Amino acid sequence: LREELYDAEKYQVIGQLAASISHEVRNPLTTAHGFLQLMRNDNLSQDALEKYRSFALEGIDQANAIITDYLNFAKPTVKNHDQVHIQEAIDSLISMVSPLCVLSKVELQIKHYTSEPVYVKGDTKKFQQSLLNIMKNAIESMPEGGYLRVSTWCDNDGVHIQIQDTGVGMSEYEIKRIGMPFYTTKEKGTGLGLMVVVSSIRAMNGKISYYSRPREGTTCVLQFKRVLED
Ligand code: ADP
Ligand code: MG
Repeated sequence: LREELYDAEKYQVIGQLAASISHEVRNPLTTAHGFLQLMRNDNLSQDALEKYRSFALEGIDQANAIITDYLNFAKPTVKNHDQVHIQEAIDSLISMVSPLCVLSKVELQIKHYTSEPVYVKGDTKKFQQSLLNIMKNAIESMPEGGYLRVSTWCDNDGVHIQIQDTGVGMSEYEIKRIGMPFYTTKEKGTGLGLMVVVSSIRAMNGKISYYSRPREGTTCVLQFKRVLED
């Protein structure tokens, strides 16, 4: 008898998560259902109607966000053997991140310290999705604006990607909890973003660390083994 198990640990987590996901999705849907039902009432003022409508939409958006984040996690890795061109993969996210920065009065600065192309092994799409999740968190931590600095460099330890913000930062209690499923401090958060990041970075044999102080900002550092182009 032969049994091949693929990434067993991950699938165990997926199973446990599936149970809590259905619970987490049901809550906002129940809210939406409730408000839609209230809207049946003929004597509602325009104000109340508007309010119920937006509560219902919020519930549906929240359920949608949870499902989107979860599916990203559960999706099996198609390929983990791309040569991810680090500078290119990061630069092509700018068009997606810039509008968010403008809305939040955040100045985006990107600096690649190695001039020649740097490659790591992995899945370009998942790498970009991870970076996007990390950068979104950084932007969301700066409601009054600030700086988002992304830098890349290489040394004897490999390839480093640093994402630094000047946002609200985290306490010791908070930083210990990031990446746990459903841990969020945001009203409209899912608490699944970093869980997806951790799983993708692990699949690429990378490391992820966070450094933070309340009110001083947060720095996320990713580290990978460098591969030479073939
Ligand atoms: P979500 O963004 O939906 O809350 P995440 O898993 O992306 O879920 O993040 C979990 C929590 O980690 C956030 O709610 C926030 O409290 C904290 N966090 C993550 N990144 C940062 C950051 N750059 N600055 C401050 N807090 C952060
Ligand atoms: Mg997030």
